[in-house]
Amino acid sequence: MSSKKLIIAGPCAVESKGQIEEIYAGIKGRIDYFRAGAYKPRTNPESFQGLGKEGLDILNELKDKEAVKVVSEIVSIEHMKEYSNIDMLQIGARNMQNFELLKRVGELNKKVLLKRGFSATYEEFIGAARYLEQYGAKEVILCERGIRTFSDTSRFTLDLAMIIKVKNETDYQIIVDPSHAAGTEDMVVPLAKAALSAGADGLMIEVHNNPQEALSDKNQQLTVEEFEKFISEM
Ligand code: PEP
Ligand code: MN
Repeated sequence: MSSKKLIIAGPCAVESKGQIEEIYAGIKGRIDYFRAGAYKPRTNPESFQGLGKEGLDILNELKDKEAVKVVSEIVSIEHMKEYSNIDMLQIGARNMQNFELLKRVGELNKKVLLKRGFSATYEEFIGAARYLEQYGAKEVILCERGIRTFSDTSRFTLDLAMIIKVKNETDYQIIVDPSHAAGTEDMVVPLAKAALSAGADGLMIEVHNNPQEALSDKNQQLTVEEFEKFISEM
C-alpha cells in the first residue's frame, strides 16, 4: 500500500449549503475529490430525489470558495450543461450501460468515474469504459461498488476479484466504493481495507455530518470523525 491512493468522500446527496460546508470542513485535507449527488437515482418516487440544479449550484459555490475538486453523478443528457464546472462526472450503477449517456458524457472531455452495474460482467464493465474513452473522455476511472448476489450479509456483494482482474488485464485505475456495498456503517471500514489489500487504486466513501438524519443512505454513511479515524490510520 505504498503508492498514493485516490480518496473521494462526501455525503450521498447535497441536502443544503450548510450541510455541504460542514462536511467539507471536516474532511478537507484528507480527500482528493469531494463527492455529493444532486440528481439521485432512487428506487421509489416518494424518496428524496436530490436538489437537482440547486444542488449543483451549492457544489459550485463550494468550489468558488475552496480549492476543491468535485465529483457528482449525472443521470441524464438533458442536465449536461449544468455540469460544466464539475471536475469529474459519475456514471451510476443504474446507468452503466446507458450507451447514449456514455457517448454524450464522453464528448464532454472530462474525467469520468464509472460505477459497475449491479449485474455487469467484466466484459460489460470494460465495454462501457471504452465507450466513454472512444467518445472523448479525458480519463475513465472504474469503481467497483458491489453486485447483486444471493448473499444477504451486506447490501451488495463486493467483488474484490474485479479489482485484481482489472489491474492484471487493463491500464484502467479502479477504486472501490465500500459504502454502497456495505449498506451499513459498521462494514464500511473493513471492506475498504479489504479493497486496498486487493490492490484498489483508491476509495470512495460516503461521509455525513449527521448520518441518522441523512435524506438518503443514512445507514451506510460514516461520521466525519469515523472517516478521520480511518484515514489517519491508513
Ligand atoms: C452513489 O454513488 O451515490 C450511487 C447512487 O451509487 P451507485 O450508482 O453505485 O448505486
Ligand atoms: Mn448513496
